[in-house]
Amino acid sequence: MCGIVGLFGHPEAAHMTYLGLHTLQHRGQESAGIVSGHEGQLYGYRQMAKVVDAFSADALAKLPGDRAIGHVRYSTTGQSLLKNAQPFWVEYVDGGIAIAHNGNLVGSKETRRRLEASGSIFQSSMDTECIVHLMAAAPPGALEDRLRVALEQVRGAYSLLLLTEDKMIATRDPHGFRPLVIGEVGGATVFASETCALHLIGAKFVREVEPGEAVIVDKDGVRSVRMGAPAPTPSPCAFEFVYFARPDSRVFGGNVYGTRKALGRILAEEQPTDVDVVIPVPDSGVTAALGYAEALDRPFEMGLIRSHYVGRTFIEPQSAIRNFGVKLKLTPVREVIEGRRVAVVDDSIVRGTTSRKIVSMLRNAGASEVHFRVSSPPTRWPCYYGIDTPTRGELIASSHSVEEIRDHLGADSLAYTTLEGLLRAIGDGDRGISGAPFCHACWSGEYRVRMDESPAP
Ligand code: AMP
Repeated sequence: MCGIVGLFGHPEAAHMTYLGLHTLQHRGQESAGIVSGHEGQLYGYRQMAKVVDAFSADALAKLPGDRAIGHVRYSTTGQSLLKNAQPFWVEYVDGGIAIAHNGNLVGSKETRRRLEASGSIFQSSMDTECIVHLMAAAPPGALEDRLRVALEQVRGAYSLLLLTEDKMIATRDPHGFRPLVIGEVGGATVFASETCALHLIGAKFVREVEPGEAVIVDKDGVRSVRMGAPAPTPSPCAFEFVYFARPDSRVFGGNVYGTRKALGRILAEEQPTDVDVVIPVPDSGVTAALGYAEALDRPFEMGLIRSHYVGRTFIEPQSAIRNFGVKLKLTPVREVIEGRRVAVVDDSIVRGTTSRKIVSMLRNAGASEVHFRVSSPPTRWPCYYGIDTPTRGELIASSHSVEEIRDHLGADSLAYTTLEGLLRAIGDGDRGISGAPFCHACWSGEYRVRMDESPAP
């Protein structure tokens, strides 16, 4: 998964992009980058680091101009290497071009093989690079015309920002899998994955980029063109509401915080439990647990404390302290848990490893009963559209029943929100999007863009 942000027409474009990237850090922590444009030239900087460590004042000073695009990356295709960090930028026949991508192209391996067979030399192992090669190979024409030709040859999920020496383009795939919004600050146009980026830089929300739309900004202003017919069934990703987006954002026209609370309330209606206390798995389960506790009229407590200082890798002691990783990240509050019947709420169970350790941690802290509640249905199918999920074999719910998973976790009970309940919660969280179709392939296996479809010729 990734986060993207861009500004056109702002005197401090790179600085504002940098601030925007801070708010989107939850969408990717492996690498961060910005490309800016000034007097017909692109300037870029990328690092394998979090935003706060990636950019110094010096680095930002070397990104001049009134336009910039930025990217934070969590790799889903392509390895975690600097050459795969974005924005990706190259010189092609019409000059410099930079691209920032959130999503995953389906069938990009075949597209890449086809391009390589006709002479393209790739610099990275990212699916995103295919788009640039397809644009370079397109018949001569305006940037948006080359982009249209390129996008006709790819499928899957893409919210994209492109920057050339004189233009910025923001576009979403015809299904609209990933979010992308338009804002405005002091006459400058802003694009961002989530509205939380707009809030920080004082930009006002204008609207979403529509599925299949390209919004073009240049010295003549802002205009919109179609990149192809919108898909018959738009498929914004429901998991953005469950886990991915920040609770203070609106995505796909819906309120993330309200939706997560509604998920908790509906979970309580569908799966009530007689417990003494409701606790969340922080941070992912907090908002749903609030809704769950409120609906059950039971106390909500922070029974697990999360350390925010643990990086992705840390040095484990040689001695056999078991499950050190989870202990570093989460610790129980004995005073909240001891002698009590506890409902613990998280947004999802993927492999089941974290949840298992949490149940044993709560029992060791003296819980008399542990009831695990999940504010989404069992994750049975991998995501091909940008969420990093393991293969089917690694998803515990793809091969185990709820009762078998409960047994594996060592919980007294285990229950999930139903798919119907989840879709109702998305409607309840914001009345405006009630009834909208969503992609729920990770729970239902109903893929809107199938892996086995061959790419367009
Ligand atoms: P697991 O131990 O594999 O069952 O992990 C479950 C935890 O992973 C839950 O706390 C989720 O919030 C979190 N989670 C779910 N999806 C993702 C994802 N795509 N990337 C990172 N964490 C995730």
